[in-house]
Amino acid sequence: KMTEAGWNFDNSYARLPHLLFEKVDPTPVKAPKLVAFNESLATSLGLNKEALQHQAGAEIFAGNTLPQGAAPLAQAYAGHQFGHLTMLGDGRAILLGEQMTSAGERVDVQLKGAGRTPYSRRGDGRATLGPMLREYIISEAMHALGIPTTRSLAVVTTGEDVVREAMLPGAVLTRVAQSHLRVGTFQFVAQVGTIDDLRTLADYALTRHFPEIEAADEQRYLALLQAVCKRQAALIAKWQLVGFIHGVMNTDNMTISGETIDYGPCAFMDTYDSATVFSSIDVHGRYAYGNQPQIGAWNLARFAEALLPLLHEDQDEAVKRAEAEISRYAEAFEAQWLTGMRAKLGLLREEKEDRALINELLTLMQKHEADFTNTFRALTLDDVNEANLDNQPAFKEWYARWQTRLEREQASAADIERLMKQSNPAVIPRNHQVEAALKAAVEEDDTQVMTQLLAALDTPFAHTCEKTVYTAPPLATAPPYRTFC
Ligand code: AMP
Ligand code: MG
Ligand code: MG
Repeated sequence: KMTEAGWNFDNSYARLPHLLFEKVDPTPVKAPKLVAFNESLATSLGLNKEALQHQAGAEIFAGNTLPQGAAPLAQAYAGHQFGHLTMLGDGRAILLGEQMTSAGERVDVQLKGAGRTPYSRRGDGRATLGPMLREYIISEAMHALGIPTTRSLAVVTTGEDVVREAMLPGAVLTRVAQSHLRVGTFQFVAQVGTIDDLRTLADYALTRHFPEIEAADEQRYLALLQAVCKRQAALIAKWQLVGFIHGVMNTDNMTISGETIDYGPCAFMDTYDSATVFSSIDVHGRYAYGNQPQIGAWNLARFAEALLPLLHEDQDEAVKRAEAEISRYAEAFEAQWLTGMRAKLGLLREEKEDRALINELLTLMQKHEADFTNTFRALTLDDVNEANLDNQPAFKEWYARWQTRLEREQASAADIERLMKQSNPAVIPRNHQVEAALKAAVEEDDTQVMTQLLAALDTPFAHTCEKTVYTAPPLATAPPYRTFC
């Protein structure tokens, strides 16, 4: 079954009820060329990186040649987009199949930008180079930061132009995920399927992502809701702790696996401000940094609604149980976030007043427009001059209180330093650096800047006292950063 390139596909999704997908092949492109290839990811998937380099890889990652065993399909799903339920589906993404790794894992291999599908509506099914490289950079940075995420295996250019605000170079991204099951997949089946379809989908999600939940457990669908809530609480807490703003937390962009998905308008915050929004279409700030935890709860409530028929025969009882799980999400988020913030401040023990200590720092950072990443980096390196807060008497007071609090830790100074270094990245994908890398790659055909940035992002917790181009915040004179999707 293993091929020379190492493809070892199974296609369990294609065995699900047919309403969940349409079989469709990628549309071949004119002149595929490999622009980025993730060798270490390829190897960890059991792929032979030599066989996937150069033109052979380009043909595969463009969708011109199908890997042995592939059964291409587009998935159906629905989604609340900015609060409004819409019928969607993969309009430009095609699942090739599920790679079974030597470690026994099953991962989706999907081509994004591979041509039209039955769900394309008015779209052209294509993607452009800049956004695909952007997804590659940011998703790989997220992975290195220890945040669950879809991965990026390759980007190819197609040799075809795509019509957007201008003619832009077409590209295809190969995305790897634990699965592409979304809250919106359940919403879709709840809308158009039978209760048997819904049960089949829920059992599939349980087997694939939560094997620890017994298939014979009568409460397994409530357990599924609980497990997804837990993963999302952990995920969104991690986003908050590094200043990641997803930008488009529609329910079709929330996974069941708990991985970050859909790197469209996302970006990392520089200056700390809980109201930060980068996406040009998020005019009301629905998906602002500070709103992400509550939006998580809102989305999970939509997931619970879709599951209601499975939760209890008595629907009033089902609603009661679902509501209890959503409140538990809020508690789980708070606990995860607090643990993470304590770690960022070097606190291993828990004290009741820690929440206040943390809040006061955040309030000071917001008031004095401190850089989020560099403030924690400066505290980590004990170099508060860097924090942009050093002259503030209120900060000096806070700092003294933090020092007193640290003295009550039973840990050594070295342990505290180690914890802080593990919890506070020195390097994040700064927007201006990402833009510089994309500009060189797209406009000058030069991928060197991106390669160097990717190398820096690969070890985000490697702290040195030295300032580099990757630790520098944007110039104060730079215009506000805007993202498009
Ligand atoms: P997103 O905003 O990325 O979550 O995408 C929302 C929906 O629009 C999904 O169903 C996508 O597949 C679809 N879509 C986005 N871009 C295109 C395109 N160029 N052609 C067809 N469908 C698209
Ligand atoms: Mg999406
Ligand atoms: Mg998108």
